[in-house]
Amino acid sequence: MSELKIFLDKDINQDLIKTKKIAVIGFGSQGYGQSMNLKDSGCDVVLGLRLGGASDIKAKNYGFKTMSIEDAVKWADVIQVLIPDEVQAEVYENQIKPNMRAGQYLMFAHGFNIHFKKIVPPDDINVIMVAPKGPGHTVRSQYTEGKGVPSLIAVYQNPSGDGKEVALSYASAIGAGRAGIIETTFREETETDLFGEQTVICGGVSALMKAGFEVLTEAGYSPYMAYFEVLHEMKLIVDLVNQGGLADMRYSISNTAEYGDMTRGPKVISETSKKAMREILKDIQSGAFADEFTKEMATGHKYFDKLREENRNHPIEKIGEEIRSSFVWGRKENIIDREKN
Ligand code: NAD
Ligand code: MG
Ligand code: MG
Repeated sequence: MSELKIFLDKDINQDLIKTKKIAVIGFGSQGYGQSMNLKDSGCDVVLGLRLGGASDIKAKNYGFKTMSIEDAVKWADVIQVLIPDEVQAEVYENQIKPNMRAGQYLMFAHGFNIHFKKIVPPDDINVIMVAPKGPGHTVRSQYTEGKGVPSLIAVYQNPSGDGKEVALSYASAIGAGRAGIIETTFREETETDLFGEQTVICGGVSALMKAGFEVLTEAGYSPYMAYFEVLHEMKLIVDLVNQGGLADMRYSISNTAEYGDMTRGPKVISETSKKAMREILKDIQSGAFADEFTKEMATGHKYFDKLREENRNHPIEKIGEEIRSSFVWGRKENIIDREKN
């Protein structure tokens, strides 16, 4: 295993990025979070958008200068591409590439299109990544609280020789250097990100919750109880794990829960599940998933829409809406302090 090196603000030349003109393409989740933080950190940032569209209006309301994507690319030294992965290749081909010049820094927040070669920039363009490991709105909310979201950086091609320094400086300007920045590669970021979201943090967790909810309600238990037990409490438990690993979670739960956890958990997520995970990983590595997703989105995304609709209508979602509308919940402070509780 390679040694862990975490970059913090003190290790970074924070001024480097302030000498460059930054075009952020897109004002969605990451576009909003990153451009707001860049501006507040004193960077020269313009939004490259579809002029007159919804994002253009939003960005102007926050006081940003906006340009067409073409003009923003011509104006900029650094271009951060923050539009959905499935439209990046087409926007790159038609609006970005024709306006790029040698020595610019083309940036991404996810390696998908570069790693799977849906976008192949010329050799004289620097290709780097700053990928916050959290949602864009959290990138913003953490920054305004004086904190940051941990982020990954990577360098894919580096004709100017300072791609890593520029990536670190950009990451610092969005607040990541307050939390921690780790260097990786486009391949590793892309494949582990897809694997994590498919099998564990999004796909695995939502399938696990739905399965638990179905088993309880099919056995005749109240759907409200089932919702609390398998969905609502998930966050409370995950907060403990996030703070201090599985050990902190097990420190806080009852011995009954801990014994059940260690004896029953492996029956649910077993060798069969690991086999499925390995197959999913293979499809990620071979590019089969990337091709499937790209094709689905390019051909009208009917199957995607059908799955969205089915999932929206799952009883766990209906029950959840009802419960959350009449329920007050909020918590900010650390949950475990071994000195105090
Ligand atoms: P998003 O879906 O929020 O992006 C929406 C923006 O893209 C809007 O401004 C929209 O107008 C613009 N857009 C959409 N289609 C367009 C088109 N055809 N032409 C021009 N503009 C178009 O995107 P996001 O979720 O912020 O993701 C951006 C990138 O960041 C992706 O590479 C994603 O993998 C990565 N990323 C996202 C998150 C996240 O929190 N969502 C986290 C880490 C990395
Ligand atoms: Mg991810
Ligand atoms: Mg992802």
